[in-house]
Amino acid sequence: MADCIFCKIAGGEINAGVVKKTPDFVAFRDIKPVAPTHVLIVPVAHLGAVRDAEGEAGHRLLGRLLAFAAEVAADLGLDSGGYRIVANTGRDGGQSVDHLHLHVLGGRPMTWPPG
Ligand code: AMP
Repeated sequence: MADCIFCKIAGGEINAGVVKKTPDFVAFRDIKPVAPTHVLIVPVAHLGAVRDAEGEAGHRLLGRLLAFAAEVAADLGLDSGGYRIVANTGRDGGQSVDHLHLHVLGGRPMTWPPG
């Protein structure tokens, strides 16, 4: 999608700290990390948010996105300590980039409730 920063990162038009890439998904370092490890997991194809992944194909994509996030977390050594996966959705959810993404946060104990 034109003017979508995550489409540009996924398409290689804009440089980012890519940690893992497949034809369908990309993981890259968040530019403003809030944890020692903070990686974003995005589908290459543009979708606005989790709620836009409709139908069987959309649901399958969500499952694969989540599995990819777990794979990246393991690659980054987060399995032993654990980690958090977050999908901010819409205004109240704190979503600032309208391209579906998961945050993988780790490397420190997380608190609850989130802010
Ligand atoms: P959210 O607020 O859930 O939509 O998360 C968007 C995230 O994207 C924020 O944590 C930003 O720091 C991050 N971000 C925005 N632009 C970039 C970029 N060019 N490279 C890496 N991360 C980015």
